[in-house]
Amino acid sequence: MASSLTTASNGTPGSEEKTFFGHPRGLATLFMTEMWERFSWYGMRGILVLYLVAAVLDGPLEDREALAASIYGVYNAVVYMAAMPGGWIADRLWGARKAVLVGGIVIALGHYTLAVPSDTAFFIGLALIAAGTGLLKPNISAMVGGLYEGQPGARRDAGFTLFYMSINIGGMLAPLVVGYLGENVNWHLGFAVAGIGMTLAVVQYVLGGRHLGDVGKAPGTPATPEEKRGALRKVLLWGGLAVAALLADIVLGTYDIEHIVNVLAILGIVVPIVYFITMYRNPALKSEDKPKIKAFMWFFATAVLFWMIYDQSGSLLTLFADNKTDRMIFGWEFPASWYQSVNPAMVIVLAPLFAALWVKLAKRNREPSAPMKFALAMLLIGGSFAIMGLAGAAAANSSTGKVTVFWLLSVYLVQTLGEMCLSPVGLSLSTKLAPKQFVGQIMGLWFLATATGNALNGWTTKLNEPLGDALYYSLWAVVAIVAGLAFMTAGKKIRALMGDTR
Ligand code: GLN
Repeated sequence: MASSLTTASNGTPGSEEKTFFGHPRGLATLFMTEMWERFSWYGMRGILVLYLVAAVLDGPLEDREALAASIYGVYNAVVYMAAMPGGWIADRLWGARKAVLVGGIVIALGHYTLAVPSDTAFFIGLALIAAGTGLLKPNISAMVGGLYEGQPGARRDAGFTLFYMSINIGGMLAPLVVGYLGENVNWHLGFAVAGIGMTLAVVQYVLGGRHLGDVGKAPGTPATPEEKRGALRKVLLWGGLAVAALLADIVLGTYDIEHIVNVLAILGIVVPIVYFITMYRNPALKSEDKPKIKAFMWFFATAVLFWMIYDQSGSLLTLFADNKTDRMIFGWEFPASWYQSVNPAMVIVLAPLFAALWVKLAKRNREPSAPMKFALAMLLIGGSFAIMGLAGAAAANSSTGKVTVFWLLSVYLVQTLGEMCLSPVGLSLSTKLAPKQFVGQIMGLWFLATATGNALNGWTTKLNEPLGDALYYSLWAVVAIVAGLAFMTAGKKIRALMGDTR
Protein backbone atom coordinates (compact mmCIF):
# COMPACT_ATOMS: atom_id res chain seq x y z
CA MET A 1 0.00 0.00 0.00
CA ALA A 2 3.02 2.26 0.26
CA SER A 3 2.58 3.12 -3.39
CA SER A 4 -0.10 5.55 -2.34
CA LEU A 5 2.67 7.50 -0.60
CA THR A 6 4.65 8.39 -3.62
CA THR A 7 3.62 12.02 -3.73
CA ALA A 8 6.98 13.70 -4.01
CA SER A 9 5.49 17.06 -3.10
CA ASN A 10 5.11 16.27 0.57
CA GLY A 11 8.34 14.36 0.67
CA THR A 12 6.88 11.11 1.95
CA PRO A 13 9.01 8.06 1.25
CA GLY A 14 8.74 6.38 -2.13
CA SER A 15 7.02 3.18 -3.15
CA GLU A 16 10.21 1.13 -2.97
CA GLU A 17 10.12 1.52 0.82
CA LYS A 18 9.13 -1.46 2.89
CA THR A 19 5.89 -1.00 4.74
CA PHE A 20 5.10 -1.42 8.41
CA PHE A 21 2.04 -3.68 8.67
CA GLY A 22 0.91 -2.08 5.42
CA HIS A 23 1.63 1.42 6.75
CA PRO A 24 4.37 3.90 5.85
CA ARG A 25 7.77 2.74 7.10
CA GLY A 26 8.17 6.03 8.96
CA LEU A 27 5.39 4.88 11.26
CA ALA A 28 7.74 2.20 12.62
CA THR A 29 10.22 4.89 13.63
CA LEU A 30 7.56 6.93 15.38
CA PHE A 31 6.06 3.75 16.87
CA MET A 32 9.34 2.69 18.49
CA THR A 33 10.18 6.19 19.66
CA GLU A 34 6.80 6.69 21.29
CA MET A 35 6.86 3.20 22.80
CA TRP A 36 10.07 3.92 24.71
CA GLU A 37 9.01 7.46 25.56
CA ARG A 38 5.79 6.17 27.11
CA PHE A 39 7.73 3.38 28.85
CA SER A 40 9.84 6.02 30.57
CA TRP A 41 6.83 8.23 31.34
CA TYR A 42 4.53 5.57 32.74
CA GLY A 43 7.44 3.90 34.54
CA MET A 44 8.37 7.10 36.30
CA ARG A 45 4.73 7.97 36.95
CA GLY A 46 4.07 4.51 38.35
CA ILE A 47 6.56 4.98 41.18
CA LEU A 48 6.22 8.75 41.60
CA VAL A 49 3.56 8.71 44.33
CA LEU A 50 5.14 5.80 46.17
CA TYR A 51 8.55 7.47 46.08
CA LEU A 52 7.13 10.81 47.26
CA VAL A 53 5.42 9.12 50.20
CA ALA A 54 8.38 6.93 51.11
CA ALA A 55 11.34 9.21 50.57
CA VAL A 56 10.55 12.86 49.85
CA LEU A 57 7.65 14.11 51.98
CA ASP A 58 7.51 14.42 55.78
CA GLY A 59 4.68 14.07 58.27
CA PRO A 60 2.04 11.47 59.12
CA LEU A 61 1.34 8.84 56.45
CA GLU A 62 -2.16 10.11 55.63
CA ASP A 63 -0.94 13.65 55.04
CA ARG A 64 1.92 12.41 52.88
CA GLU A 65 -0.48 10.32 50.82
CA ALA A 66 -2.90 13.19 50.28
CA LEU A 67 -0.09 15.56 49.33
CA ALA A 68 1.49 12.99 47.01
CA ALA A 69 -1.86 12.51 45.24
CA SER A 70 -2.20 16.29 44.78
CA ILE A 71 1.34 16.62 43.44
CA TYR A 72 0.61 13.73 41.09
CA GLY A 73 -2.53 15.42 39.71
CA VAL A 74 -0.83 18.78 39.41
CA TYR A 75 2.18 17.27 37.71
CA ASN A 76 0.04 15.40 35.18
CA ALA A 77 -1.79 18.63 34.38
CA VAL A 78 1.47 20.56 34.02
CA VAL A 79 3.01 17.97 31.70
CA TYR A 80 -0.01 17.91 29.40
CA MET A 81 -0.28 21.70 29.49
CA ALA A 82 3.32 21.91 28.29
CA ALA A 83 2.08 20.44 25.00
CA MET A 84 0.70 23.87 24.05
CA PRO A 85 4.02 25.74 23.98
CA GLY A 86 5.57 22.55 22.59
CA GLY A 87 3.20 22.65 19.62
CA TRP A 88 3.85 26.36 19.12
CA ILE A 89 7.62 25.84 19.07
CA ALA A 90 7.26 23.21 16.34
CA ASP A 91 4.78 25.22 14.24
CA ARG A 92 6.56 28.55 14.50
CA LEU A 93 10.22 27.91 15.28
CA TRP A 94 11.74 24.49 14.78
CA GLY A 95 9.44 22.13 12.91
CA ALA A 96 8.16 18.94 14.59
CA ARG A 97 11.21 16.89 13.68
CA LYS A 98 13.64 18.93 15.75
CA ALA A 99 11.11 19.54 18.55
CA VAL A 100 10.75 15.77 19.05
CA LEU A 101 14.52 15.25 19.07
CA VAL A 102 15.21 18.03 21.57
CA GLY A 103 12.22 16.92 23.65
CA GLY A 104 13.49 13.35 23.75
CA ILE A 105 16.96 14.38 24.89
CA VAL A 106 15.53 16.67 27.58
CA ILE A 107 13.24 13.89 28.86
CA ALA A 108 16.15 11.42 29.06
CA LEU A 109 18.19 14.00 30.99
CA GLY A 110 15.20 14.45 33.28
CA HIS A 111 15.03 10.75 34.14
CA TYR A 112 18.78 10.57 34.72
CA THR A 113 18.48 13.59 37.01
CA LEU A 114 15.82 11.72 39.01
CA ALA A 115 18.29 8.87 39.31
CA VAL A 116 20.47 11.17 41.45
CA PRO A 117 19.39 10.79 45.07
CA SER A 118 18.75 14.41 46.05
CA ASP A 119 15.57 16.42 46.63
CA THR A 120 16.77 19.27 44.41
CA ALA A 121 17.66 16.85 41.62
CA PHE A 122 14.18 15.35 42.02
CA PHE A 123 12.37 18.60 41.27
CA ILE A 124 14.76 19.58 38.46
CA GLY A 125 14.24 16.13 36.93
CA LEU A 126 10.45 16.52 37.01
CA ALA A 127 10.70 19.96 35.38
CA LEU A 128 12.93 18.59 32.60
CA ILE A 129 10.53 15.72 31.93
CA ALA A 130 7.58 18.14 31.72
CA ALA A 131 9.38 20.46 29.31
CA GLY A 132 10.64 17.59 27.17
CA THR A 133 7.26 15.85 27.03
CA GLY A 134 5.64 19.13 25.99
CA LEU A 135 8.03 19.25 23.04
CA LEU A 136 7.78 15.60 22.11
CA LYS A 137 4.24 14.37 22.70
CA PRO A 138 2.12 16.69 20.50
CA ASN A 139 4.68 16.85 17.73
CA ILE A 140 5.35 13.15 17.35
CA SER A 141 1.57 12.72 17.06
CA ALA A 142 1.40 15.49 14.45
CA MET A 143 4.15 13.71 12.50
CA VAL A 144 2.12 10.51 12.41
CA GLY A 145 -0.60 12.56 10.73
CA GLY A 146 2.03 13.98 8.35
CA LEU A 147 2.80 10.47 7.06
CA TYR A 148 -0.77 10.21 5.77
CA GLU A 149 -1.05 13.56 4.01
CA GLY A 150 -3.63 13.31 1.22
CA GLN A 151 -4.69 9.78 2.10
CA PRO A 152 -8.13 8.42 3.02
CA GLY A 153 -9.27 9.18 6.55
CA ALA A 154 -9.85 5.55 7.55
CA ARG A 155 -6.25 4.67 6.71
CA ARG A 156 -4.95 7.51 8.83
CA ASP A 157 -7.21 6.40 11.70
CA ALA A 158 -5.82 2.87 11.40
CA GLY A 159 -2.26 4.30 11.48
CA PHE A 160 -3.11 6.19 14.65
CA THR A 161 -4.54 3.05 16.17
CA LEU A 162 -1.25 1.24 15.53
CA PHE A 163 0.59 4.22 17.00
CA TYR A 164 -1.72 3.98 19.99
CA MET A 165 -0.60 0.40 20.50
CA SER A 166 2.99 1.53 20.82
CA ILE A 167 1.91 3.90 23.59
CA ASN A 168 0.30 1.06 25.43
CA ILE A 169 3.05 -1.51 24.94
CA GLY A 170 5.32 0.99 26.69
CA GLY A 171 2.62 1.73 29.24
CA MET A 172 2.05 -1.93 30.06
CA LEU A 173 5.70 -2.94 30.45
CA ALA A 174 6.72 0.13 32.43
CA PRO A 175 4.99 -0.53 35.76
CA LEU A 176 6.24 -4.12 35.65
CA VAL A 177 9.90 -3.24 35.03
CA VAL A 178 10.39 0.24 36.46
CA GLY A 179 7.84 -0.42 39.22
CA TYR A 180 9.52 -3.63 40.26
CA LEU A 181 13.04 -2.18 40.26
CA GLY A 182 11.96 1.05 41.93
CA GLU A 183 9.91 -0.55 44.69
CA ASN A 184 11.92 -3.69 45.34
CA VAL A 185 15.51 -2.69 44.59
CA ASN A 186 16.07 1.06 44.61
CA TRP A 187 13.94 4.05 43.58
CA HIS A 188 16.79 5.69 41.74
CA LEU A 189 17.58 2.56 39.79
CA GLY A 190 13.94 2.62 38.65
CA PHE A 191 14.31 6.21 37.42
CA ALA A 192 17.61 5.37 35.72
CA VAL A 193 15.97 2.52 33.82
CA ALA A 194 13.23 4.90 32.68
CA GLY A 195 16.09 7.12 31.42
CA ILE A 196 17.62 4.20 29.52
CA GLY A 197 14.23 3.59 27.87
CA MET A 198 14.09 7.21 26.76
CA THR A 199 17.67 7.05 25.47
CA LEU A 200 16.68 4.07 23.33
CA ALA A 201 13.80 6.17 22.01
CA VAL A 202 16.16 8.94 20.94
CA VAL A 203 18.63 6.53 19.31
CA GLN A 204 15.81 4.83 17.45
CA TYR A 205 14.42 8.18 16.34
CA VAL A 206 17.74 9.36 14.94
CA LEU A 207 18.49 6.06 13.19
CA GLY A 208 15.00 5.78 11.71
CA GLY A 209 14.83 9.46 10.69
CA ARG A 210 15.51 8.70 7.04
CA HIS A 211 12.14 6.95 6.75
CA LEU A 212 10.29 10.11 7.68
CA GLY A 213 10.91 11.94 4.42
CA ASP A 214 10.26 15.64 4.83
CA VAL A 215 7.58 15.21 7.48
CA GLY A 216 7.99 17.83 10.21
CA LYS A 217 11.21 19.19 8.74
CA ALA A 218 10.13 22.83 8.57
CA PRO A 219 7.86 24.94 10.80
CA GLY A 220 4.35 25.42 9.34
CA THR A 221 4.42 29.21 9.60
CA PRO A 222 7.82 30.44 10.76
CA ALA A 223 7.54 33.25 13.29
CA THR A 224 8.88 36.66 12.27
CA PRO A 225 11.62 38.16 14.49
CA GLU A 226 9.00 40.52 15.85
CA GLU A 227 6.65 37.63 16.74
CA LYS A 228 9.52 35.85 18.45
CA ARG A 229 10.29 38.91 20.54
CA GLY A 230 6.60 39.28 21.36
CA ALA A 231 6.36 35.65 22.49
CA LEU A 232 9.48 36.00 24.63
CA ARG A 233 8.07 39.13 26.26
CA LYS A 234 4.83 37.30 27.07
CA VAL A 235 6.66 34.28 28.51
CA LEU A 236 8.83 36.52 30.69
CA LEU A 237 5.85 38.59 31.82
CA TRP A 238 3.53 35.69 32.71
CA GLY A 239 6.33 33.48 34.01
CA GLY A 240 7.62 36.35 36.14
CA LEU A 241 4.13 37.02 37.51
CA ALA A 242 3.64 33.34 38.36
CA VAL A 243 6.99 33.12 40.17
CA ALA A 244 6.30 36.39 42.01
CA ALA A 245 2.87 35.17 43.13
CA LEU A 246 4.33 31.87 44.31
CA LEU A 247 7.13 33.61 46.21
CA ALA A 248 4.67 36.02 47.82
CA ASP A 249 2.51 33.06 48.86
CA ILE A 250 5.51 31.32 50.42
CA VAL A 251 6.89 34.46 52.13
CA LEU A 252 3.46 35.28 53.58
CA GLY A 253 3.32 31.76 54.96
CA THR A 254 -0.03 31.07 53.26
CA TYR A 255 1.36 28.63 50.70
CA ASP A 256 -0.65 25.46 50.28
CA ILE A 257 -0.53 22.90 47.41
CA GLU A 258 -4.25 23.61 47.05
CA HIS A 259 -3.36 27.03 45.66
CA ILE A 260 -1.45 25.43 42.80
CA VAL A 261 -4.28 22.96 42.21
CA ASN A 262 -6.76 25.85 42.03
CA VAL A 263 -4.62 28.03 39.78
CA LEU A 264 -4.08 25.10 37.42
CA ALA A 265 -7.77 24.24 37.29
CA ILE A 266 -8.57 27.86 36.43
CA LEU A 267 -5.76 27.96 33.86
CA GLY A 268 -7.06 24.69 32.42
CA ILE A 269 -10.33 26.46 31.65
CA VAL A 270 -9.03 29.90 30.69
CA VAL A 271 -6.06 28.86 28.51
CA PRO A 272 -8.05 26.86 25.94
CA ILE A 273 -10.70 29.60 25.67
CA VAL A 274 -8.06 32.28 25.09
CA TYR A 275 -6.17 30.01 22.72
CA PHE A 276 -9.20 29.17 20.62
CA ILE A 277 -10.14 32.85 20.34
CA THR A 278 -6.58 33.84 19.39
CA MET A 279 -6.29 31.10 16.82
CA TYR A 280 -9.71 31.93 15.41
CA ARG A 281 -8.73 35.56 14.95
CA ASN A 282 -5.31 34.79 13.52
CA PRO A 283 -5.13 36.29 10.02
CA ALA A 284 -3.18 33.22 8.85
CA LEU A 285 -6.33 31.14 9.39
CA LYS A 286 -8.25 30.88 6.12
CA SER A 287 -11.98 31.47 6.34
CA GLU A 288 -12.74 27.96 5.03
CA ASP A 289 -10.79 26.51 7.97
CA LYS A 290 -12.75 28.42 10.60
CA PRO A 291 -15.68 25.98 10.87
CA LYS A 292 -13.16 23.17 11.42
CA ILE A 293 -11.75 24.99 14.42
CA LYS A 294 -15.32 25.35 15.70
CA ALA A 295 -15.87 21.63 15.25
CA PHE A 296 -12.65 20.96 17.09
CA MET A 297 -13.93 23.01 20.06
CA TRP A 298 -16.80 20.54 20.44
CA PHE A 299 -14.45 17.60 20.40
CA PHE A 300 -12.19 19.38 22.85
CA ALA A 301 -14.96 20.04 25.38
CA THR A 302 -16.10 16.41 25.22
CA ALA A 303 -12.55 15.15 25.62
CA VAL A 304 -12.12 17.27 28.77
CA LEU A 305 -15.08 15.54 30.36
CA PHE A 306 -13.89 12.13 29.16
CA TRP A 307 -10.37 12.51 30.59
CA MET A 308 -11.69 14.06 33.77
CA ILE A 309 -13.60 10.86 34.47
CA TYR A 310 -11.12 8.43 32.94
CA ASP A 311 -8.05 9.73 34.77
CA GLN A 312 -9.65 9.12 38.14
CA SER A 313 -8.39 5.59 37.70
CA GLY A 314 -4.97 6.87 38.80
CA SER A 315 -6.42 8.28 42.02
CA LEU A 316 -9.83 7.22 43.33
CA LEU A 317 -10.02 3.91 41.50
CA THR A 318 -6.54 2.94 42.65
CA LEU A 319 -7.52 3.71 46.23
CA PHE A 320 -10.68 1.64 45.71
CA ALA A 321 -8.45 -1.17 44.38
CA ASP A 322 -6.25 -0.85 47.41
CA ASN A 323 -8.89 -0.64 50.14
CA LYS A 324 -12.07 -2.15 48.79
CA THR A 325 -11.16 -5.03 46.47
CA ASP A 326 -10.31 -8.52 47.48
CA ARG A 327 -7.01 -9.13 45.71
CA MET A 328 -6.35 -12.64 46.98
CA ILE A 329 -5.45 -15.29 44.41
CA PHE A 330 -4.75 -18.74 45.81
CA GLY A 331 -3.94 -17.25 49.18
CA TRP A 332 -1.68 -14.52 47.79
CA GLU A 333 -2.58 -10.84 47.62
CA PHE A 334 -1.40 -9.23 44.39
CA PRO A 335 -0.24 -5.60 44.55
CA ALA A 336 -2.82 -2.89 43.88
CA SER A 337 -0.39 -1.25 41.44
CA TRP A 338 -0.78 -4.21 39.09
CA TYR A 339 -4.04 -2.65 37.99
CA GLN A 340 -1.92 -0.04 36.18
CA SER A 341 -0.99 -2.58 33.52
CA VAL A 342 -4.57 -3.77 33.01
CA ASN A 343 -5.75 -0.89 30.82
CA PRO A 344 -2.72 -0.82 28.48
CA ALA A 345 -2.94 -4.61 28.12
CA MET A 346 -6.58 -4.30 27.12
CA VAL A 347 -5.71 -1.57 24.62
CA ILE A 348 -3.07 -3.78 23.01
CA VAL A 349 -5.66 -6.49 22.45
CA LEU A 350 -8.49 -4.18 21.44
CA ALA A 351 -6.66 -1.61 19.29
CA PRO A 352 -6.07 -3.86 16.28
CA LEU A 353 -9.64 -5.15 16.53
CA PHE A 354 -10.98 -1.62 16.49
CA ALA A 355 -8.67 -0.62 13.65
CA ALA A 356 -9.86 -3.59 11.59
CA LEU A 357 -13.47 -2.87 12.49
CA TRP A 358 -13.28 0.77 11.34
CA VAL A 359 -11.59 -0.21 8.08
CA LYS A 360 -14.14 -2.94 7.45
CA LEU A 361 -17.06 -0.65 8.19
CA ALA A 362 -15.49 2.10 6.06
CA LYS A 363 -15.34 -0.28 3.09
CA ARG A 364 -19.08 -0.72 3.38
CA ASN A 365 -19.51 3.00 3.95
CA ARG A 366 -20.86 2.28 7.41
CA GLU A 367 -18.10 3.58 9.62
CA PRO A 368 -19.51 5.74 12.43
CA SER A 369 -18.58 9.42 12.06
CA ALA A 370 -16.13 10.99 14.48
CA PRO A 371 -18.91 12.74 16.45
CA MET A 372 -20.67 9.39 16.74
CA LYS A 373 -17.50 7.74 18.03
CA PHE A 374 -17.06 10.51 20.59
CA ALA A 375 -20.67 10.15 21.68
CA LEU A 376 -20.14 6.41 22.07
CA ALA A 377 -17.00 7.07 24.10
CA MET A 378 -18.98 9.27 26.48
CA LEU A 379 -21.73 6.66 26.86
CA LEU A 380 -19.10 4.04 27.62
CA ILE A 381 -17.17 6.13 30.13
CA GLY A 382 -20.49 6.96 31.76
CA GLY A 383 -21.35 3.24 31.74
CA SER A 384 -18.05 2.42 33.42
CA PHE A 385 -18.83 4.81 36.26
CA ALA A 386 -22.32 3.36 36.55
CA ILE A 387 -20.60 0.01 37.18
CA MET A 388 -18.33 1.76 39.70
CA GLY A 389 -21.43 3.10 41.46
CA LEU A 390 -22.76 -0.46 41.78
CA ALA A 391 -19.35 -1.67 42.95
CA GLY A 392 -19.30 1.06 45.57
CA ALA A 393 -22.76 0.04 46.79
CA ALA A 394 -21.72 -3.63 46.81
CA ALA A 395 -18.61 -2.85 48.87
CA ALA A 396 -20.64 -0.79 51.32
CA ASN A 397 -23.10 -3.67 51.77
CA SER A 398 -20.54 -6.44 51.96
CA SER A 399 -19.61 -7.79 55.38
CA THR A 400 -15.87 -7.50 54.61
CA GLY A 401 -16.20 -4.06 52.97
CA LYS A 402 -14.56 -5.57 49.88
CA VAL A 403 -15.73 -6.70 46.44
CA THR A 404 -14.19 -9.09 43.91
CA VAL A 405 -11.63 -7.89 41.35
CA PHE A 406 -14.12 -8.47 38.57
CA TRP A 407 -15.87 -5.19 39.32
CA LEU A 408 -12.78 -3.14 38.58
CA LEU A 409 -11.83 -5.34 35.66
CA SER A 410 -15.22 -4.71 34.07
CA VAL A 411 -14.92 -0.99 34.78
CA TYR A 412 -11.54 -0.94 33.04
CA LEU A 413 -12.82 -2.97 30.11
CA VAL A 414 -15.72 -0.59 29.48
CA GLN A 415 -13.41 2.42 29.92
CA THR A 416 -10.93 0.97 27.47
CA LEU A 417 -13.68 0.43 24.90
CA GLY A 418 -14.54 4.10 25.36
CA GLU A 419 -10.89 5.09 25.09
CA MET A 420 -10.64 3.27 21.76
CA CYS A 421 -13.54 5.32 20.41
CA LEU A 422 -12.05 8.62 21.56
CA SER A 423 -8.32 8.71 22.03
CA PRO A 424 -6.83 7.40 18.75
CA VAL A 425 -9.77 8.96 16.93
CA GLY A 426 -9.08 12.32 18.57
CA LEU A 427 -5.39 12.17 17.69
CA SER A 428 -6.16 11.43 14.08
CA LEU A 429 -8.99 13.93 13.91
CA SER A 430 -6.84 16.72 15.34
CA THR A 431 -4.32 16.27 12.54
CA LYS A 432 -7.15 16.20 9.99
CA LEU A 433 -9.03 19.24 11.24
CA ALA A 434 -5.92 21.31 11.84
CA PRO A 435 -4.92 23.67 9.05
CA LYS A 436 -1.38 22.58 8.19
CA GLN A 437 0.31 25.58 9.75
CA PHE A 438 -1.45 24.98 13.08
CA VAL A 439 -1.10 21.21 13.41
CA GLY A 440 1.36 21.26 16.32
CA GLN A 441 -0.77 23.71 18.23
CA ILE A 442 -3.99 21.80 17.60
CA MET A 443 -2.23 18.67 18.85
CA GLY A 444 -1.16 20.71 21.85
CA LEU A 445 -4.79 21.65 22.40
CA TRP A 446 -5.82 18.03 22.15
CA PHE A 447 -3.48 17.19 25.02
CA LEU A 448 -4.60 20.29 26.86
CA ALA A 449 -7.98 18.56 27.12
CA THR A 450 -6.26 15.92 29.26
CA ALA A 451 -4.56 18.66 31.29
CA THR A 452 -7.85 20.46 31.90
CA GLY A 453 -9.58 17.20 32.81
CA ASN A 454 -6.84 16.36 35.30
CA ALA A 455 -6.77 19.85 36.71
CA LEU A 456 -10.55 19.76 37.26
CA ASN A 457 -10.14 16.42 38.98
CA GLY A 458 -8.44 18.25 41.82
CA TRP A 459 -11.88 19.71 42.55
CA THR A 460 -14.29 16.98 41.54
CA THR A 461 -12.66 14.09 43.39
CA LYS A 462 -13.21 15.98 46.63
CA LEU A 463 -16.91 15.17 46.29
CA ASN A 464 -16.19 11.47 46.70
CA GLU A 465 -15.83 11.62 50.48
CA PRO A 466 -19.04 13.54 51.31
CA LEU A 467 -21.20 11.78 48.67
CA GLY A 468 -19.93 8.25 49.16
CA ASP A 469 -18.91 5.89 46.33
CA ALA A 470 -22.35 4.86 45.05
CA LEU A 471 -23.72 8.37 44.68
CA TYR A 472 -20.46 9.94 43.53
CA TYR A 473 -19.85 7.53 40.66
CA SER A 474 -23.51 7.47 39.63
CA LEU A 475 -23.50 11.26 39.46
CA TRP A 476 -20.63 11.31 36.95
CA ALA A 477 -22.19 8.42 35.07
CA VAL A 478 -25.31 10.51 34.52
CA VAL A 479 -23.30 13.59 33.49
CA ALA A 480 -21.28 11.58 30.94
CA ILE A 481 -24.29 9.78 29.52
CA VAL A 482 -26.22 13.03 29.11
CA ALA A 483 -23.16 14.57 27.41
CA GLY A 484 -22.91 11.55 25.11
CA LEU A 485 -26.57 11.80 24.12
CA ALA A 486 -26.24 15.56 23.56
CA PHE A 487 -23.20 14.99 21.37
CA MET A 488 -25.09 12.39 19.38
CA THR A 489 -27.93 14.84 18.83
CA ALA A 490 -25.52 17.57 17.76
CA GLY A 491 -23.63 15.11 15.54
CA LYS A 492 -25.11 16.34 12.28
CA LYS A 493 -24.26 19.97 13.02
CA ILE A 494 -20.72 19.06 14.01
CA ARG A 495 -20.27 16.99 10.87
CA ALA A 496 -21.38 19.98 8.81
CA LEU A 497 -18.69 22.10 10.47
CA MET A 498 -16.09 19.48 9.67
CA GLY A 499 -16.60 19.98 5.92
CA ASP A 500 -14.86 17.29 3.89
CA THR A 501 -12.99 15.90 6.93
CA ARG A 502 -14.02 12.35 7.75
N1 GLN B 1 -2.71 6.85 27.26
C1 GLN B 1 -2.52 7.79 26.20
C2 GLN B 1 -1.11 8.30 26.14
O1 GLN B 1 -0.35 8.09 27.04
C3 GLN B 1 -3.53 8.90 26.28
C4 GLN B 1 -3.11 10.09 26.99
C5 GLN B 1 -4.08 11.22 26.86
O2 GLN B 1 -4.29 11.79 25.80
N2 GLN B 1 -4.70 11.53 27.92
O3 GLN B 1 -0.74 8.90 25.19
